[in-house]
Amino acid sequence: MKNMQAAVRFIAAILLLGLLSGAAQAKKLNVITATTDMAALTQEVGGDKVNVEPLARGYQDPHFVEAKPSFILKLHGADLLVAVGRELEIGWLPPLITQSRNAKVQPGGPGYLDASQNAKILDMPTGQITRAMGDVHPQGNPHFWLDPGNGRRIAQAVQAKLTELDKADAAYFSQRYADFDRRLTEAEKRWQALMAPYKGLKVVSYHRSWPNFADAFGLDVIGYVEPKPGIPPSPAHTLELEQQMKAQNVKIVLVEPYFDLKTPNAIGRDTGAEILVMPPSVGGVKEVTDYFQLFDYDLNLLVSAIKKTGAR
Ligand SMILES: [Zn+2]
Repeated sequence: MKNMQAAVRFIAAILLLGLLSGAAQAKKLNVITATTDMAALTQEVGGDKVNVEPLARGYQDPHFVEAKPSFILKLHGADLLVAVGRELEIGWLPPLITQSRNAKVQPGGPGYLDASQNAKILDMPTGQITRAMGDVHPQGNPHFWLDPGNGRRIAQAVQAKLTELDKADAAYFSQRYADFDRRLTEAEKRWQALMAPYKGLKVVSYHRSWPNFADAFGLDVIGYVEPKPGIPPSPAHTLELEQQMKAQNVKIVLVEPYFDLKTPNAIGRDTGAEILVMPPSVGGVKEVTDYFQLFDYDLNLLVSAIKKTGAR
């Protein structure tokens, strides 16, 4: 009988522990992010108080992501949605948000964060904007996370939003942000030293993904394989670009992993330039699993190509 009571108490204790750990798990905020970069930055600040999952994969073109039904379910259960903003995701995310029927994550809702709000935005358009211009960047350049300074600003916005949603963990998020900021400052010194010999280096890129990256590391992007953002290459534009590259001795073409290499390779043959497939996002190649690795990987790739081509 005594053994029986002990066994019952033991089982009750196990059940209670299970309930408690279940409660602790339930306390984690469910965060869905539009892209892997926003997931990486949210994870830096949120630590083990958040479950973070990106919708787009790092090797996909973030303008044109195939909307899966599972995305709606993920958004339905989210406490927070972190979007890149500046209309990067306008082609796929808004209908998913509507269909999620989750009031929290609707734009303007308490669980919606537009990561571009405090970021340094380049390529701000002037004058009348029309879709006829074929431009997928009507509200300034949406690839702004490629400047570490903007990574810091995004992390800060994430910290403020997580604190708003989970006040009890305010000190935790604040400490995580401070630690991220410190590590980023260290890394920036390393990256700036690596790129210091190549200030003003002229490059070409396929899409207009790199203005913030170029701004941060002193590159000069003189032209694009796309005639306009989102518009495929045309023979006339390619010819003009090749002439500019030859005139300015441009030896490097950056290509995002999701574009066809046919035109870039032709440009490489005609001009002798190195075609460099460079991921603009965490997860663009499998070894890049966090925000720091993205810059480590890309900058090392770039420096190798500079050395190989003798480009200056
Ligand atoms: Zn773009």
